[in-house]
Amino acid sequence: MKNELKIFKNNGEQKMRQTVNTKFKQELKEFGVGNWNACFNCGNCTAICGLTENGFLFPRKSIQSIQMGLKENLEKSVDPWLCYYCGECSDTCPRDANPGELMMSLRRYLTSTYDWTGLSKKFYTSKFWEIGFIAFFGAAIIAAFLIFLPPSQRVYSNPEAFVNDQGGVMINSMVDGISSTQFIKIIEYGDWTMAIIVALLLISNIFRMFYKVILKDKSIHIPFFAYFTEFFQLIYNFLTQARFSKCEKKSYWVGHLLLMTGYTIMFMVIVVLLPEFQIEEVKPWYHWQRILGYYATFGILYFLIIAAIERLRKSDIKFKFSHESDWLFIIMLGLTTITGILINIFRLAGMPVLTYYMFVLHLAILVPMIIVEVPFSKWSHLAYRPFAIYFAKLKKASYAQQAIKSQLLTT
Ligand code: SF4
Ligand code: SF4
Repeated sequence: MKNELKIFKNNGEQKMRQTVNTKFKQELKEFGVGNWNACFNCGNCTAICGLTENGFLFPRKSIQSIQMGLKENLEKSVDPWLCYYCGECSDTCPRDANPGELMMSLRRYLTSTYDWTGLSKKFYTSKFWEIGFIAFFGAAIIAAFLIFLPPSQRVYSNPEAFVNDQGGVMINSMVDGISSTQFIKIIEYGDWTMAIIVALLLISNIFRMFYKVILKDKSIHIPFFAYFTEFFQLIYNFLTQARFSKCEKKSYWVGHLLLMTGYTIMFMVIVVLLPEFQIEEVKPWYHWQRILGYYATFGILYFLIIAAIERLRKSDIKFKFSHESDWLFIIMLGLTTITGILINIFRLAGMPVLTYYMFVLHLAILVPMIIVEVPFSKWSHLAYRPFAIYFAKLKKASYAQQAIKSQLLTT
């Protein structure tokens, strides 16, 4: 039996050829729930969605594409990224098809198609791969610290020698043979190496997304200036997550914004501003550095606690279905935050041994989490979504130009 067949659709001026992939539905099931057969295309979900608009009619259109096996259609679509998963469509679906979760599954699938390394697919479809990768990296970091940067023996015999006048642990001065400046430099180089690798992976994947969504789509012609005039959308939506605020339940947007700003601050602190923050001096509680730290910790914890409780309660449709990657994200970010808080507690309490080991454990959780989550897994949506909004604006500019041209031709 032939696996693929061709269908032709007359799209106004252009003939568009689409490929029907009969194995596509099966392939998608690996990325989450697969209840698309329940959908009978009533359109309630699209009608209720506050984010859908002309030219980007989701989620029904995406579900139709899945049902028909139109893989290419979906891969060039930005619709799944325009959804913020408020769950309102799932609440109103008369067939319990859970369209909100279907969109989430599609985002996982699309992430794997943008990723050229193939790791994203492995992480999303195999617990063994994702947990194994994180455990391997974490163990490598612990081993590297214990072999190359072990704590001085004096930390055990004379811990007071590592406590400053303010009663705080001198966190950068616990390794024999290197100064505190050298210690910070080593950590800083490590952080920058990690950030550059992650950025290169993410940028190359975003370029693949651009190729699939814009360059490969021969039905659109983006006006050159639109690339510049619409670019602010990318920055604006990244910083404010403004589209999410259009959903009925504003609390989701607030939680998401707190989380996003919280870990953006944390990322800046551990990479860009490390020499400013990882210092021996203990700043007063009202110092701007500590206020930023409190804000970021509160934002992340608030989101994580609500997300964990809701996923356990399963009373809200948005949290009824949890993919393994959802829980891994909560657990990893939770452990990173808790170890970060404990470092501060031990440090302020003047306990050098516990401060050192908690610092190593913190990095052993944080670094693999960033390496896995940012380019390959759940956190990649931080970049893909603002870019999708930008690409959607470019497509809209193309549609508007086409409409003007066809109007001119008919008059
Ligand atoms: S997912 Fe549900 S609401 Fe949406 S079109 Fe299908 S049956 Fe209707
Ligand atoms: S989950 Fe919310 S944003 Fe996403 S398609 Fe459904 S109604 Fe729209």
